[in-house]
Amino acid sequence: MTNVEKKTFTMYNTHIHAFQNEAVPRCLFGGISRFFYKHKKIKWIIHALYRIRTLTNNDLWERIGRYTEIGSLKSWQILDHVFQFYPDDTKFVVLTMDMVHMGAGKPKQKYYEQLEELATVEEILRIESFKKARKKILKNTLIEAIPKIIETSTKVRKIKKLGKILTKAITNDTTKARKIEKFKKAEKNAENILKTALNKKELVQFEETLKEEKKEIEKKYSEKRILPFICIDPRRTDWKISKDDKKKREMIDFIEYWRKRGFRGIKIYPPLGYFPWDKDLHKVYSYAIEHEIPIITHCSPGVINSRECRRKLKKRIRDNKSELIRLKVWNVNDKLRCISRKKLCSYFTHPYNYKKVIEDLIEDREIKNEDLSKLKICFAHFGGATEVKKYLYPKSLESIKENWFYYIRNLLEESDVFYVDISGTWGDSQFDPLLKLILLELASKTPKKILFGSDYYMNQISFSERNFGLRIRGYLGEDKFKQIAHCNTKTFLYGGKVCEKLTNSKEEKNE
Ligand SMILES: [Zn+2]
Repeated sequence: MTNVEKKTFTMYNTHIHAFQNEAVPRCLFGGISRFFYKHKKIKWIIHALYRIRTLTNNDLWERIGRYTEIGSLKSWQILDHVFQFYPDDTKFVVLTMDMVHMGAGKPKQKYYEQLEELATVEEILRIESFKKARKKILKNTLIEAIPKIIETSTKVRKIKKLGKILTKAITNDTTKARKIEKFKKAEKNAENILKTALNKKELVQFEETLKEEKKEIEKKYSEKRILPFICIDPRRTDWKISKDDKKKREMIDFIEYWRKRGFRGIKIYPPLGYFPWDKDLHKVYSYAIEHEIPIITHCSPGVINSRECRRKLKKRIRDNKSELIRLKVWNVNDKLRCISRKKLCSYFTHPYNYKKVIEDLIEDREIKNEDLSKLKICFAHFGGATEVKKYLYPKSLESIKENWFYYIRNLLEESDVFYVDISGTWGDSQFDPLLKLILLELASKTPKKILFGSDYYMNQISFSERNFGLRIRGYLGEDKFKQIAHCNTKTFLYGGKVCEKLTNSKEEKNE
C-alpha cells in the first residue's frame, strides 16, 4: 500500500483468527497439525510436498504447509505475520474459539490461556518489534564496524570467530535451541564490542538510531490495533479466568472481566452443537445490549462441526422440531436419517434461528424495545460459498429463494440488528460482481451492513491473504471499499449511524 492510500482511511478487518494448534481439540485438524510438527520426519515430508509445487502448477501442498506452519506459531507471531499484508494502522477483530464442549477431546491449551494471550498480545508485539528493529540496527552497525574492529584489535582470530557467531545471532540464522543461549551471549557481546570500537560520535549516532526506532514503534502501538472477541459456548460451566482463580464466576462475570481487559465483542459458534436462542445466550444478548457490544456468529454450513454422537445431536434437533418448522429452518420433508454431520449441524447454524433470538428479546420485559437497536449481530461468511453458488446457479426459479445467502439478505433488510461479513466466502473471485451490485443498491439497507473480513489464517488453505485484500479493494474501488472496510465496520464495532460523523477515532481511544 502506498502512503496516499494509508492516509485516506483506517482499514478494519473484522474477521481473523490467531489461536494456536494447542487451542484446538486433539481429534480435530489441529491434532493433525500438532502431529506433523511433533514428528520431524513428517515435517520433512510436508516440506518435501511443498516442493511438489515447483513440479506442478498446483500449490495446494504449499498452502497446507503454510496453514500448518502458521498454526504452530504463538498468537503474537500469527498476528505479526498477518500485519505484513495490510497498511500499518489497520485494525483487526481477532475471534477466539472455545472448542472444549464440541465432543472432540480436550484442547491442550486452557481457554483462559487463549484469552490471556490475546489480552497481552499488543504489549508483546511492541516488545518483539523493538527487538527485531534493534537486531537490524545492530547488524547494520556491526557490518560497517567489523573491518575496523579487526584492524584495531590485537585478538583478530577471536574477533573473527565472534563475528561469525554474531552475524548468525543477529540475523536469527538458527532455530536450534541448544545454540540459542550461546547466541544470546554473543549478542550481548556485540553491543559491548561495538561500544569499544565506535568513537564517541559514532556511538551517539548508534544510540540515537535506537531511540528513534523505539519512538516509531511506540507510536505504531499507541493506538489499539487488536480488537479481540470472546467466544462464548453456553454449555461451559467453568468460567475460571486463570489457573489460580478461586472465585466462583458466572458467564457474565467472565465476559465482564475480559471486556475490561480490552476484549471488544462476543463470538458464538452454533455448529458446535447449540442453538443461538439458548437461554444462557439470552443473558449474553442482554449484556451486549446494555454495554453496546457487537456479536459475530458463524453462519455457513461449516468445516468445524460438533463431534458429539449423532444420536445426541439428532435428539437436540428433534426436541426443537416444532420451533424449527415454524422458523422455516426445518423443511417439513426433512428427514434426519442418513444425514451428514455438516447438514445436521447446520440446523444449529441456520440464519432464521435468529428470528427467535429477536422474538425472545422483544418478549423480555427487562429489555426496552428502543434498546434493541443497540444489539448488533454479524453473520460471518454471508452463508458460505456453497450457499452463494446456489443463489447464482439456481436449479429452478424457486430455488433462488432457497439458500442462506437469500435468507441472510432478508434478515438484513428486515432488522437493523443484523450485519454480515464476507470472510472466507469471497476468497472466490466469481462472487465479486455480486458484491459490487449489492453495494450499489442504494435504496436497500444491505450496503451499510456488509463488513470486510478475511478469515485469516483459516483461509490459507484456499486463498492468499494479500491477493484477497488487494483484489476486493481493486475491484470495488476506493469508495465502496472504504464503505465495507471502514464505515460499516466502525459502526458495527462502535455504534453511531453515519460514518462521516465519527470524528478522528474518538470512540476507539475510549476503548
Ligand atoms: Zn473464521
